[in-house]
Amino acid sequence: MSNPKENLLIVRERIAAAAVRSGRAPAAVELIAVSKTHPVDVIREVARVPHTLFGESRVQEVLAKAPELPAALRWHFIGHLQKNKIRKLIPWVEAVHSIDSLELAQDLDRIAAEEGRRPDVYLQVNIADDTAKYGFNRESVRRDLEAMLTLTRVNVLGLMTIPALVDDPEKNRPAFAALRALRDELAAASGVPLPGLSMGMSDDYEIAIEEGATIVRVGGAIFGQRAPTIRAVAD
Ligand SMILES: *Cc1c(COP(=O)(O)O)cnc(C)c1O
Repeated sequence: MSNPKENLLIVRERIAAAAVRSGRAPAAVELIAVSKTHPVDVIREVARVPHTLFGESRVQEVLAKAPELPAALRWHFIGHLQKNKIRKLIPWVEAVHSIDSLELAQDLDRIAAEEGRRPDVYLQVNIADDTAKYGFNRESVRRDLEAMLTLTRVNVLGLMTIPALVDDPEKNRPAFAALRALRDELAAASGVPLPGLSMGMSDDYEIAIEEGATIVRVGGAIFGQRAPTIRAVAD
C-alpha cells in the first residue's frame, strides 16, 4: 500500500477486469481517487500518472487543496453537504454525489444559477441501512424525484449509496443490485435515463461494478489507510 501511483494502476486494472465481467468496456466505469485526509503533495504525485478525477468529503478540504493543485484536476464532492457551504464549494466541483434531500437539491440549483455553474448530481439513497444519518430512502426518492428533475441547473445523473460496513464485501452485493433496480424503476417511471450509479469503495468496488456501478469512489486502496474515524463522516 506504500506507493499510491502503483496502487492506482492496480485499481485501474481491477476496474477494467470487473467492467469486462459485467459486459462493459473498461472506459464505462470512472474512478474517483478519494484523497480526503491526504496532502496535496501526494495528490500531485498521483495526478502525474496521469489521473485527473479526485474526491473529497469535507468542504474545507476542497477549499484548502484544490487551489494548490493543477487546474486540470476535476473534483467530485462525496460527503454530507451543509446548505451554508454550497456557495463556497460550487466553483470547485463538477459533481456532488451526496444530494440527500429535495431542499438541498433546490438550494444547490438556486446557488448554481447565481454562480453560473451546472453541477452533475447523484441522489444518495440508504438502500440497506434505514438508520443511516443522511440520504433518501426508497419512498422519499420516489416522492421527490420529479421535483428534482424540474431543476434546470443541476443535472441529476443517477443514484449513489454507501452500504453498511461489513466483514465480507460480498454481503454488499444485494445492496448494489437493489440500488440498480431502484434506478431502473425510477428511470422507467420518470422517462429520464438516470445513467449514473455511484457505488463501490476500496473493499467492494469490483462487486459494485459487477452490479452496474458507473463510477467508483476509492480511497484507501490507492492512498493507504486513513485514521478510521474519518470514514464517511459529516463535514
Ligand atoms: C471515504 C469515502 C470513500 C472511500 O472509502 P475507501 O474505503 O477509503 O475507499 C468513498 N465514498 C465516500 C462517501 C467516502 O466518504
